[in-house]
Amino acid sequence: MIIKPRIKGFVCITAHPSGCLANLRDQVEVASSNKVEGEGKPKRVLVVGASTGYGLASRVSAAFSAGADTMGVYFERPPKGEKTASAGFYNSAAFCKLATEAGLSAVDVNGDAFSNECKEEVVKRAKETGGPFDLVVYSLASPRRTDPADGNTYRACLKPIGAVYKNKTLDTDRKEVKEVTIDPASEQEVADTRKVMGGEDWEAWTDLLLAEGLLAPGCLNLAYSYIGPEVTWPIYRNGTIGKAKEHLEDSASAISEKMKAAGCGGAYVSVNKAVVTQASSAIPVVPLYVSMLFKIMGELRTHEGCIEQTSRLFSDRLYGPKEGIELDDKGRIRLDDWEMEPEVQSRIVELWPQVCTENLRELTSFDKYQKDFLSLFGFGHPSVDYEAEVDPENPY
Ligand code: NAD
Repeated sequence: MIIKPRIKGFVCITAHPSGCLANLRDQVEVASSNKVEGEGKPKRVLVVGASTGYGLASRVSAAFSAGADTMGVYFERPPKGEKTASAGFYNSAAFCKLATEAGLSAVDVNGDAFSNECKEEVVKRAKETGGPFDLVVYSLASPRRTDPADGNTYRACLKPIGAVYKNKTLDTDRKEVKEVTIDPASEQEVADTRKVMGGEDWEAWTDLLLAEGLLAPGCLNLAYSYIGPEVTWPIYRNGTIGKAKEHLEDSASAISEKMKAAGCGGAYVSVNKAVVTQASSAIPVVPLYVSMLFKIMGELRTHEGCIEQTSRLFSDRLYGPKEGIELDDKGRIRLDDWEMEPEVQSRIVELWPQVCTENLRELTSFDKYQKDFLSLFGFGHPSVDYEAEVDPENPY
């Protein structure tokens, strides 16, 4: 069939397998030109949330920068008849194809990472395919979690805490800058968001992998967080999601202690830069901020996407420097250093009050935002013929 984008709000319900493969090839090229060398580099890597965004880029860096065998856990829709798979499904199939061609082992587990069944499947497959991991990357972004401990389903929300939030936002469908008003979260919503996006499940994964002897001596364990600029703090860092991220960051020290007691290298949170992903495009205000950021960082030649960030993570933070991992005063890795440069942030503060629908394309890189958004689903790649027939069930 011929596959076209069908966008509904902040998601695209179709995905193009040839475009996903072409995107993967681009990521592999970046990772391959940033090789990580030396004894300390990882050989077996587990990525939880491996099919899109930061998790996918982490898997590509692990395989093509460090030469590691990888296991990827994700929750993605397979193709069915005339319905395409989700982009993450094609991305993962494309990853496995390219990794296998490069002589690397790539094992996939498609299931709900919060469930006991999925965790047990990972343990089983890990034992069958080579044993302990020396790097774990926890990169889940999910709107809900069913906790196997109580059977309840908790839902995350993106709300301010304590006061109504009013600010500019970008309606990406209508291409309009408008005002958004969001009521504050209840205490229950704060607690539920923490349950989904906090550190509880990361710790559960670590406990299980430790108990099963699946974390190798010196193994590192990473989760991702975001801080961002003051304009987004009421809805992000000081809102429900920020409280969950605080919990994730606080969990790192408890997880680290357990790992170190078992001879592992420790757990870290890496604060990454804002990029276009399926998760970030759902957060109010963020698409407008990211469109501005792209323009400013593009002009300063410091623009990065997921793969450039994870390349820097592997070569400059985790496995490059002999003097150890560089951390901030709260013990976090900071990959958002270029985003948070005073020159970048002062230009955001200056532009923010000025931006409106009429000058959107002049003051921001909204076109690039839209291109990146479509590319998440495999559309708009210059090497792909989008008029050609593809088989959505067996594309590769
Ligand atoms: P994303 O939406 O691109 O990826 C989410 C991943 O989680 C996918 O692989 C998806 O399959 C998987 N997933 C979701 N629910 C699952 C479930 N129940 N079981 C198994 N897998 C599941 O998201 P992203 O933006 O790359 O976010 C990943 C992490 O990076 C998050 O912690 C996020 O807060 C953080 N981060 C993102 C940004 C950004 O700008 N996007 C910036 C800094 C940090």
